[in-house]
Amino acid sequence: MISVPEIFSAYVFDHAKMKKWLKKKDYNQFIATVEQGKPLSKELASAIADGMKNWAISMGATHYTHWFQPMTGITAEKHDSFICPTDDGKVIMKFSGKELIKSEGDASSFPNGGLRSTFEARGYTVWDPTSFAFIKDGALCIPTAFCTFSGQVLDKKTPLLRSTKAVSMQAKRLLNVLGKQTKEVIVTVGAEQEYFLIDKKNYLQRKDLMFTGRTLFGSNPAKGQEMADHYYGNIRPRVLAFMEELDRELWKFGILAKTRHNEVAPAQHELAPIYSTVNVAADQNQLTMEIMKKIAEKHDLICLLNEKPFKDVNGSGKHDNWSMSTDSGENLFEPGKNPKENLQFLLFLISVITAVDRHQDLLRLSVASASNDHRLGASEAPPAIVSMYIGEELEGILENLSSGKTYDEKVASDLDTASGIKTAFKKDNTDRNRTSPFAFTGNKFEFRMLGSECNISCPTTMINVAVAEALDEICSKLEKATDLNSEILNIIKEYYCKHKRIIFNGNGYGEEWKALAKERGLLNLENTPSALVRYNDKKNVELLEKYGVLNGEEIDARMEILLENYCKTINIEARTMLEMTKREIIPACITSINELAETIRLKKKLDLSRETESKILERTSALLDEAYTAELKLEEVSKKVKTESDIVKKAKDYHDQVLSAMNDLRKPVDELEKLVAKKYWPFPAYSDILYSV
Ligand code: ADP
Ligand code: MG
Repeated sequence: MISVPEIFSAYVFDHAKMKKWLKKKDYNQFIATVEQGKPLSKELASAIADGMKNWAISMGATHYTHWFQPMTGITAEKHDSFICPTDDGKVIMKFSGKELIKSEGDASSFPNGGLRSTFEARGYTVWDPTSFAFIKDGALCIPTAFCTFSGQVLDKKTPLLRSTKAVSMQAKRLLNVLGKQTKEVIVTVGAEQEYFLIDKKNYLQRKDLMFTGRTLFGSNPAKGQEMADHYYGNIRPRVLAFMEELDRELWKFGILAKTRHNEVAPAQHELAPIYSTVNVAADQNQLTMEIMKKIAEKHDLICLLNEKPFKDVNGSGKHDNWSMSTDSGENLFEPGKNPKENLQFLLFLISVITAVDRHQDLLRLSVASASNDHRLGASEAPPAIVSMYIGEELEGILENLSSGKTYDEKVASDLDTASGIKTAFKKDNTDRNRTSPFAFTGNKFEFRMLGSECNISCPTTMINVAVAEALDEICSKLEKATDLNSEILNIIKEYYCKHKRIIFNGNGYGEEWKALAKERGLLNLENTPSALVRYNDKKNVELLEKYGVLNGEEIDARMEILLENYCKTINIEARTMLEMTKREIIPACITSINELAETIRLKKKLDLSRETESKILERTSALLDEAYTAELKLEEVSKKVKTESDIVKKAKDYHDQVLSAMNDLRKPVDELEKLVAKKYWPFPAYSDILYSV
């Protein structure tokens, strides 16, 4: 039996470990320095490095690494051992303060959007002491930020830290105007993570899964998710064994893994942690994804994090639950018993409504990726249109406040379970809307457009900075007000009227919503290239520069990196399709055709009916011709598009031309899969993959 409290955070150099391995005065000084956001002195850095190293060695570590989040979307590490030679030909284990704080690397090997060529190839990783160091794979991992030699941001974490600071400062300012002194406002985030688990032997037989993380061919199995029998269903033993080991491992990393269950699609599951402070949540979600993949392999399983691994089967998302609270634990989005009189809450709420409406484009582009394009708007995930759900009650309150009426709230009724027991719980006044991209869920917002593979840093950065701007504006007005209460009501009215078009409490999956959203003038950025090109719009550059999150040059670089990434992803997918078609699918079809032709020939000799075989042969042959033509077309289009030098045009061409040529190839191949004998089909079908674990 394991004791969870005992193993929890075992791999983490947390406060308890710091207290044990650092001198008391060093620990206290360290905490104070971090709280004040000041740089560490050389002596203090050395003392901390030494304590960290001694703890790490006691845990069996031999190496250390700066651990960072470059623009690849995954984390990066380069292990260096602690060894240092001595005069007598032996080694001692050393780790200096300098090595802890800063490390130099080659920035040119990571996506940099041309930033490094403006100066030179060197890049730096710099310790982020607000996130704990931990041990992984025998190495002491030090969370760091990554920048160029001249200080331009090259990672996903720095903008997150900066935007958090901005929003926290503005929230504190608003509380201050309202007469509340707080030391700090904390951004809290909980990232719910969906994933697929499939058998490794099926994975190894499919080049598309291996190279791209999703299937590029495959027809629907006879049984899909229509019976809704997987969601919250019994967890099968093999999956449970994986989940148990995963939870244990995550707990050792101090990750508050809380909920595990089967999701809607067959072979799909979800893990939700208890929320934590934003930068810890971002680090931990990256770690969670990495550990999921590793543990899966130990069980001969593969964890697929691609947002849309199977066509016509629900894709996987990630919900970015976002809120703010004071250091004394007051959640700023807690409406309380009487929201209509809770002006503080209403001001914070209106600032989020304003932020989401003004910066729909930034939110949309923060989740844009080639794979998420297959998910958004595919009647299982929110559409590509950003809108907000706040529930009937809050909408009623804001509507009435802005028209000067009082709101007659619906009384929350007791929940009668018919079991004779009247529960103490109150039924939610608002039925939770599952189709909204940005939903208020009681005391937090849930941004649901993220794909499962998304690093939460970018979307969270955008929420932070957009809300910071709205709060800033509201504070400036309130600070000048002579009558605070009437100014608050004016602001709520003004901002609500201006931005209420973003609120939509209805079904976001419906076609009618698209038309209505258009009428309201909301953006519908349907695909990644159309979303990403908005990154450096004047409005966005001004916002991100004003709050010191990213400068114009860094934004251009980011846009280029992400567009480039989009092109590369589609190019790899196209090449994988071509390889599979040429070397596996076409030969399999020819074998099948051969067999049919041979049967027909023999049957003719025996003077037997050949009707069935002939029809199948004809159809197979026609589809094969179609597939071959589509393959040639895809090859030609990919070659042409690849040479385009303008990255914006190139990304658009990949979407308009290559992606559509890929679809044209997929259609006949998926039909062929249904006709060709299973024994000839070169890789496992959806029905094999989705039901084998
Ligand atoms: P759901 O809303 O999906 O039904 P929960 O209410 O249990 O489920 O919460 C989902 C996620 O939201 C969890 O990861 C949880 O930790 C997180 N969460 C809850 N409260 C907050 C908060 N104040 N700030 C950020 N995340 C939160
Ligand atoms: Mg959720």
